[in-house]
Amino acid sequence: MTKTNSYWDASVEALSRSELDALQLERLKQTVQHASLSPFYKKKLGDVSEHLSSLQSVSDIRKLPFTTKADLRNEYPYGFLSVSKDELVRLHVSSGTTGQATAIFYTRADLETWADLLARCMYMAGARPGDTFQNLTGYGLFTGGLGFHYGAERLGMLTIPAGAGNSKRQIQLMKDFSTSVIHIIPSYALLLMPIMTEMGIDPRRDLSLRLAFVGAEPYSEEVRRRIEDFYGIRVFNSYGLSELNGPGVAFECPEQTGMHVWEDAYLVEIIDPRTLEPVPDGVYGELVLTSIKREGMPIIRYRTKDLTRIIPGDCPCGRVHRRLDRMQGRSDDMFIIKGVNIFPVQVEQVLMNISEVGNNYVIVLREENSIDTMIVRVEVNDRIFVEDMRQLQRIQKKIAHELRGELLVTPMVELVEPNSLPKSEGKAIRLIDERKK
Ligand code: ADP
Ligand code: ZN
Repeated sequence: MTKTNSYWDASVEALSRSELDALQLERLKQTVQHASLSPFYKKKLGDVSEHLSSLQSVSDIRKLPFTTKADLRNEYPYGFLSVSKDELVRLHVSSGTTGQATAIFYTRADLETWADLLARCMYMAGARPGDTFQNLTGYGLFTGGLGFHYGAERLGMLTIPAGAGNSKRQIQLMKDFSTSVIHIIPSYALLLMPIMTEMGIDPRRDLSLRLAFVGAEPYSEEVRRRIEDFYGIRVFNSYGLSELNGPGVAFECPEQTGMHVWEDAYLVEIIDPRTLEPVPDGVYGELVLTSIKREGMPIIRYRTKDLTRIIPGDCPCGRVHRRLDRMQGRSDDMFIIKGVNIFPVQVEQVLMNISEVGNNYVIVLREENSIDTMIVRVEVNDRIFVEDMRQLQRIQKKIAHELRGELLVTPMVELVEPNSLPKSEGKAIRLIDERKK
């Protein structure tokens, strides 16, 4: 098979499972060898030749140790470097949503690989040269900005590095340059809707949007549907994390039955986070990723803390790269209330199915007189008449009832006016835990 171009590469996308397995094993071995040049893995791996001889098949990856976020933090800034500093051309820092930041380095070849991966993702979803691509995520240290930017240019789209925020100008740009493809985080896509309406713009009538790549934070199918309905576009789920380059790790194909992990660049495992043993396909657990096509800082068996599952079976699109289900969230985001484990996205799923509910919500956990309470603060949509107390009470009851049905916990529901909850152009804060730890 020949390589046709950098965004449709038959030599990797159309491999059979056995060809892909062979490629992975070869790259895994190279990775182990190369990683051992870094101070961290030199210590961690010890005798590399022993590891190499124990790798007979890809599943032998289980014999290798895990890498955690704490390792990355402890080794800050250079402990994971496997090349000399003068080979590096880029530094990103993870946005630090859950604590101290970690440094990520790229060589020129790493940037090429990363751009190829993103171009491949977007091409798979239907973006083409000739499209106008507007990137509505933060540039700078956040990998979502530059990651998609270079992928889009590689693919050959007219690329607008709009960044996040400045919403009215964003909308004007979409209009003036007939933007057809966007990259946006889900909470910002929701936030832009009322601003468009206020500007008198109906995206279906006035804009040329076709596709949106949406990721960087958990969101539900219901939010996907809301974005699709409002903008009149197809939304593709996009997953990645700075530690493994950034976006471009897994992406939906047009079948939209899960996100294909690019297995020529990443090895994927799902483990039980308690026993650390692998779980069968179809069972939820913690996603563990290994980079197998990276120079600057290879990472072996990284525990992402993201909870998902591998979707069993083959994708009708024909790609053998395995698929991940929608992320439930990070294990850190899960909260326990009255003995029940809940992810914020489960709350979202219920809320966004209720037509009276607007586009923003926050969950507040409080302890009052030693009793835990969950307060769900919800914006009503702008068609609700906020002076009508009877109607509000009815909506409140309905939301509490639906949440109770799904979560088995009865929350206190507080309704607030549209656009009154704190907004963020970056990742949204969905959970505020005020309880004493
Ligand atoms: P930080 O860890 O500081 O937020 P990143 O920008 O690297 O920095 O974020 C990566 C994380 O974002 C992932 O580990 C995951 O928790 C979340 N994420 C990324 N894409 C998605 C997605 N499509 N669905 C759910 N969560 C996602
Ligand atoms: Zn597919």
